[in-house]
Amino acid sequence: MRTTSGIRSRAEEVIARCRKLARFSEDVGGTRRTFLSAPMRKCHREIAAWMKPLGVETRIDPAGNLRGLYPGAESKAPRLLLGSHLDTVPNAGAFDGVLGVVLAVALLESLEGRRLPFGIEVVGFSEEEGVRFGTPFIGSRALTGRLDNELLARQDACGVSVRKAIEDFGLNPQEISQVALEEGALGYIEFHIEQGPVLETLNRPLGVVEAIAGQSRLEFIFLGRANHAGTTPMHLRRDAIAGAAEWIIAVEREAQSVPGLVATVGVIEAKPGATNVIAGEARLTLDVRHGSDEVRARAVDDLIRQAEEIAERRGLSVSRNVLLDQQAVPMDSLLVNEIAQAIGKAGCEPHRMVSGAGHDAMILAGRVPSAMVFLRTPGGISHDPAESVRTDDVAKAIECGMHLLEQLASSPTLQGRMHRA
Ligand SMILES: [Zn+2]
Repeated sequence: MRTTSGIRSRAEEVIARCRKLARFSEDVGGTRRTFLSAPMRKCHREIAAWMKPLGVETRIDPAGNLRGLYPGAESKAPRLLLGSHLDTVPNAGAFDGVLGVVLAVALLESLEGRRLPFGIEVVGFSEEEGVRFGTPFIGSRALTGRLDNELLARQDACGVSVRKAIEDFGLNPQEISQVALEEGALGYIEFHIEQGPVLETLNRPLGVVEAIAGQSRLEFIFLGRANHAGTTPMHLRRDAIAGAAEWIIAVEREAQSVPGLVATVGVIEAKPGATNVIAGEARLTLDVRHGSDEVRARAVDDLIRQAEEIAERRGLSVSRNVLLDQQAVPMDSLLVNEIAQAIGKAGCEPHRMVSGAGHDAMILAGRVPSAMVFLRTPGGISHDPAESVRTDDVAKAIECGMHLLEQLASSPTLQGRMHRA
């Protein structure tokens, strides 16, 4: 199967399998598969059927994650985790998450029965997108021992709690604590579509994620004075929306001037919100992301200072609330370097990048060395039925994965970790 045509046909099969899984949906005519919904069970069965001929028995753990262990050469060999998530957003594409699980199965197939010094556990996470309960990463949090009672009590739109959903699926929420990874997990590697335009712009099939960006989310409220749009001369106005608009441009300018920084004002609401009334209040959101927490914090401080300066000059006041301050998560440098090398061996120039979006690897990194491989996303389109991957890129990802497994099997550092594991 190491021939180019063999790898290409395996890549075609990976794509066909992703498209098949996309048909297991809660919606007719579109893909939507949320935490432990009925189509998730069909999805599990399908993947289990692909793994059975490889001698891999699958199970669904008490957090609803699909788990299948391909044993290592020795019975007590440590495990390398490979996977991604199986849930989707509404009106989803066929590859976000699912591709990482299907590629993991393809890599096991590529081993053709060979045993490595470590076992490989395929994990299909039950929940990453946060669609059903408004809280993401339910599956991966369980593996890190962070699926607590508060999260289990969260309810979906129908009033069904996470705990009840687990019971309804035939699983036992009392056993959640057993999902937490024990010693013996060497690392976690996730293949995922980039969901952005960077690799495509660089014309590179694969990227290696060095860090998952930290995020700041804030709410800003500019207060001025509402007044008549016809009778209030321009120089006597305290227009909250005009102040907000000036600051939005400042946000854009700040992000453009700092390499790697992204900053977004995604919501603006003005009050009272009438055509003939000067806005007395403007409420905005700010989302700032960067791979370095220091750079992000500096940018946020700068934007706060600019908001205050603009408000003062315009006779407005401005207040703010911090909604989220999430630190960047560096990926494991050993795995990152090995992946970069494997991408090179697959004949591609590796692009080292920061993921602007959160992924299961970000959660797993708190417990095991973790890393990610990104695949170019045509048009940068994701979370949409038009989401796609190129067959050649999937073939390169398989090649990269095969080289990576070989490298890790003979890596002295990993051997060291195995002895400690
Ligand atoms: Zn995803």
